[in-house]
Amino acid sequence: MEWLQQYRERLNRTRVQGRLPHALLISGQEGVGKRALAEQLAHSLLCQQVAADGQPCGQCAACGWLQAGSHPDLLWLVPEEVGKAIKVDQVRALTGQLFMTSHAGRYKVAIIQPADAMNRNAANSLLKTLEEPTDNTLLVLLTALPGRLPATIRSRCQQLQVAVPDALMAQQWLQDTGMESGQAILYLKLANGAPLKARQLAETDSVGTRDQRLQQLVAVFQGSLDPVETAKGWMGESERQSLGWWRAWLEDMIRWQQGGQPPLEPEVAQKLQRIVETVDCRQLFDLSDKVSNALNSLGSGLNRQLILEDLLIFWAKLADLASYRTRVGSR
Ligand SMILES: [Zn+2]
Repeated sequence: MEWLQQYRERLNRTRVQGRLPHALLISGQEGVGKRALAEQLAHSLLCQQVAADGQPCGQCAACGWLQAGSHPDLLWLVPEEVGKAIKVDQVRALTGQLFMTSHAGRYKVAIIQPADAMNRNAANSLLKTLEEPTDNTLLVLLTALPGRLPATIRSRCQQLQVAVPDALMAQQWLQDTGMESGQAILYLKLANGAPLKARQLAETDSVGTRDQRLQQLVAVFQGSLDPVETAKGWMGESERQSLGWWRAWLEDMIRWQQGGQPPLEPEVAQKLQRIVETVDCRQLFDLSDKVSNALNSLGSGLNRQLILEDLLIFWAKLADLASYRTRVGSR
């Protein structure tokens, strides 16, 4: 993951100079390597014979524990279930452990992922810890959505933003992991350029789900599939992904309608063409905003099924408007 090198070097310089903050907020798109960066920093702080460039030795007892995932001074704070909130009790348990002396007499590191999953009480509880830091502790907060964190928390963290790597570098890295170049380009596009996300998409069969979502959208548009039933089917694990794909297709369609290139994948272009030819661009913009808002509000406790239903009903109505336009236009 050579695109992380510049960030690794920056963090290592800070470590060597003894200027590490008590709290570090690493932000960046999903799949860009935030967690790997946090782990590397933790390893360089916990290894007993770390090299000057921050590389852990891989030989000492600490490295052994780290490799086994059982180092007592590396703590993780994650939701109890994927997609759920991090609760105040979890934060209290973590801070309790942080205040104890380190087992190895060195640093204690806690990684919070994703930090934006902390609910309000949890964030308030963490804030107290940030206000009264203890020596030799490092809290690392990871998030793809820094705006969701309270400003009071952000302002107490040193911030590091990880950018999406250069496309060629990302593609080369994926190819080095054994992916064909065409696949690498496609998955990188689906992952908005984030290499680890691209690899994850390639490994799970989310492309199958993506095809299915596109077919469903076309069917809802054509009136052969009920929007409410479709919304039910979209609930669950791939909800965020489905909305993300939909937004990307809407953006594709807007670009295409405004004289840009059709989507990169011919099957997608073929499915979207009829829609692009008939719908009003302003409606596409409008829907694209609605889908973005829905993506931002997922997990905020609003009724997700209602949101999905509204969006799909709006989409089905676009077809009615489009057919009206076509009839009027062809008169
Ligand atoms: Zn070591």
